[in-house]
Amino acid sequence: MSFVLFGLGISSGIAIGRAVLMNQTPLEVSRKNIPPELVETEISRFDKAIENVRKEFLQLQNNSKQDQSQNAKNKSKKFVELSAFLNVHMMFLEDYEIVQKPKDIIREKLCNAEWALIQQMNFLVQQFDSFEDNYFKDRKFDIIQVVERIVKELLSIKQNNYQHHHKNNKNNKNNQSQNHSQEQNQSKNQNNKFPEIIVAHDISPADAMEFRQQQKNYAAFLTDVGGLTSHTAILARNMEIPAVLSLKNAQTLIKPNQLLIVDGLRGIVIVNPSPQILDEYNLRKKQLALKKDYLKKRLKSAKSQTLDGVDINLYANIELPSDAKNALEDGADGIGLFRSECLFLNSSGNSNSNSNNNNNNNEKIFNEDEQFFAYKSVAETMKNKPVVIRTLDIGADKVLPMFKNTNTSALGLRGIRLSLKEQHIFNTQIRAILRASAFGNIKILLPLLTNSQEIDQALNLINQQKDFLRSSKIAFDENIQIGGMIEVPAAALAVGFVLRRLDFISIGTNDLIQYTLAIDRADENVADLYDVLHPSVLILLYHTISSANKVNIPVSVCGEMASDSRMTKLLLGMGLRNFSMQSSQILKMKENLCKFNVSEITPIVKRIMKLDESNKIREALTKLNEN
Ligand code: PEP
Ligand code: MG
Repeated sequence: MSFVLFGLGISSGIAIGRAVLMNQTPLEVSRKNIPPELVETEISRFDKAIENVRKEFLQLQNNSKQDQSQNAKNKSKKFVELSAFLNVHMMFLEDYEIVQKPKDIIREKLCNAEWALIQQMNFLVQQFDSFEDNYFKDRKFDIIQVVERIVKELLSIKQNNYQHHHKNNKNNKNNQSQNHSQEQNQSKNQNNKFPEIIVAHDISPADAMEFRQQQKNYAAFLTDVGGLTSHTAILARNMEIPAVLSLKNAQTLIKPNQLLIVDGLRGIVIVNPSPQILDEYNLRKKQLALKKDYLKKRLKSAKSQTLDGVDINLYANIELPSDAKNALEDGADGIGLFRSECLFLNSSGNSNSNSNNNNNNNEKIFNEDEQFFAYKSVAETMKNKPVVIRTLDIGADKVLPMFKNTNTSALGLRGIRLSLKEQHIFNTQIRAILRASAFGNIKILLPLLTNSQEIDQALNLINQQKDFLRSSKIAFDENIQIGGMIEVPAAALAVGFVLRRLDFISIGTNDLIQYTLAIDRADENVADLYDVLHPSVLILLYHTISSANKVNIPVSVCGEMASDSRMTKLLLGMGLRNFSMQSSQILKMKENLCKFNVSEITPIVKRIMKLDESNKIREALTKLNEN
């Protein structure tokens, strides 16, 4: 049966693929439905996996004991730790909650053992998280490790061949479930040729970064929750794949392997489409690809200019060094925002696979050389075009496990605040950026500024790192420019203190709107209140842009608003000439710009700025955009 789900479309594009139901753990396990008559076989499979893991642990314990006795004199700490660690894991393998509870879930939900075990693990992890005591809290990592081990074992035990079983059980009484399962297998076979579409309750920015870093190619993302400018949405957009968030109950309604059409522009998902609908969307998909190709050929190397000859700079926002290549391909004038924190965001919270999950050694996680090579590679790829590297903006929805005991919420120690608190991390990053500045046109951008002391303190630390490099005879750009992000209303209202201290500013509209309207940008429940045309937002934008223009300090917008075609004329009329966006939007923007006449737009925008109600502003803007 075909049906349609509606959510928030966060990136244009169409994907056709098969559903993969995703769990909220680093373990990627899909849910499979088990026919009732095979439940006991599935439970035996689970028991066997537990038994195998138990044997493996016993073996490890024996080996460890032998090693210890051989090294009786040298009873090293390593052996003691390994044996203590194995004891804890063995204990969990005896625990009712891990060994028995998943079997109840298999019986009740008619699902595969891996899935049942992960559900139970999520439940237990939540319980452990609620403990006050850090020692007990951290035991959840042991549970995760034990579960990971069992899942790996389960995956290596051959799964039951349900189709085969049914074919050989013609007298099976449970015809309904037989038909259901056959139907699923049939659709599985038919749909195998399609790429995978992730269906998750939520995908954290860390998960999204992990997909990117591991170069997993999914055709689209669907989630039950999430707001339009959440970092997950931004990351999906930059991956240039369609995504629909806030579908509410996609994870419950969509079955594994079902065929899906995702229309990222309209925010709809068609489940089990009819052949006619499938044809229609295949055609639309081809048309979109052709249009993109055409734009690339025609506009890639063209200058971005309005109809009346006003030059506009179109920069790219990137998350990983490898994105720089796409930015260049898409004709970007430079990198307007490198979200450097994304280098460190993945589910395990490490900068690379060599790091250890429980590692509290910040120096290792934020390794200077690793950062230096990342920044240098972007600078070199961009061949002297500007590369604006934002210093770490950890916090809000971008969480790192190492700060789990720190309040890095949207109103807490986020962005520059955390950097000034954890100065060794900031200093390491600044040294890496400065060293890379010898290889291109790098600029530094400070996130989430609120007051002048933060800027003075940051500039002071940057100067100290410059002194250090000078005395160590390490090359860097002596004239490196330093800018600040305007994302907090306080900084926008009193922007003079920023303009007097820094070389450029960049307006982060995603956060500026969040903080002005008191709307959590990642929460789908308040997504309809996230009003980009609220008069207060426009007043802050206009004030910031015109104040910067008055003193000739370059100003750009690097939030999602920069690529929103409904906002382009408004921003041009306010005097904005620098836009930074996902590089996939640049060609479309270039195409639009050459139809606009800034001298005509500006007086109209001045009149719009006199309006003080969103609806009236919306009406006037619609009229302006129609012309
Ligand atoms: C913004 O807030 O608009 C911005 C560009 O920064 P981020 O989206 O990374 O918070
Ligand atoms: Mg921001």
